[in-house]
Amino acid sequence: MGNFEELICWLNPQSLRLGVTRGGGAPTLTAQDVAAAIGKARGEQPLGAELLVMRSAPEMASLSAPTRRGMIRDIALREHCKRQRALFFAGESRLTEDLKLEYRTATRADVRVATQRHKGARAAAWPKLGPKWKLLLDLIDFELASHGKCAVCDGTGAVWVPRADGLRLRADCKSCLTTGVEQASGRRRAEAIKVSESAWRQSWALPHEWISGECESARRAAARIASKWLGFVDD
Ligand SMILES: [Zn+2]
Repeated sequence: MGNFEELICWLNPQSLRLGVTRGGGAPTLTAQDVAAAIGKARGEQPLGAELLVMRSAPEMASLSAPTRRGMIRDIALREHCKRQRALFFAGESRLTEDLKLEYRTATRADVRVATQRHKGARAAAWPKLGPKWKLLLDLIDFELASHGKCAVCDGTGAVWVPRADGLRLRADCKSCLTTGVEQASGRRRAEAIKVSESAWRQSWALPHEWISGECESARRAAARIASKWLGFVDD
């Protein structure tokens, strides 16, 4: 996603100072152009746009922390509810198949299928709502916000590698795999939400990964909207 990275580049004052241009003789972008593009992205993808600027141009952040956290919480609650519902219905249909077997209107194979489905729904379900959830959502927000940014690339997802001729080349940051977010260990995350490391792995790593991934997709979607508005051709 060259365009996305180029936009991030533009939002980063450090690379602005390096005088990066759009290349191909195209006119140079101004800070106003970028601000207008972010405005456009905010209209369609408010959370994504906020996350985009928080990491690369924090002075452009405009949502309050509670508003931002509320948006992340809504994403989490919707998915939590969906998984609980799936678990409930899988449990119901397993009981139904059990009962039908008694009356010989279901086969053992039907019961096996229903049992497998129930097992799958149980594995996919997230921990019950409670105080730990607030800690988890705070942790995710912390990691997404500039506080959790990768120290190697300063949250931009890219590093500048010096070349022999004195120029510097832009390269993907290997430390955060271009996400710009510090890749915290499971142990540190477990500590942050006050659970054991094994409880983290067993119950909390999955929702953490899913919710962070959704936020990351929103950020990328906002970047796509902004870069399209700036006239970058999608590649
Ligand atoms: Zn990095």
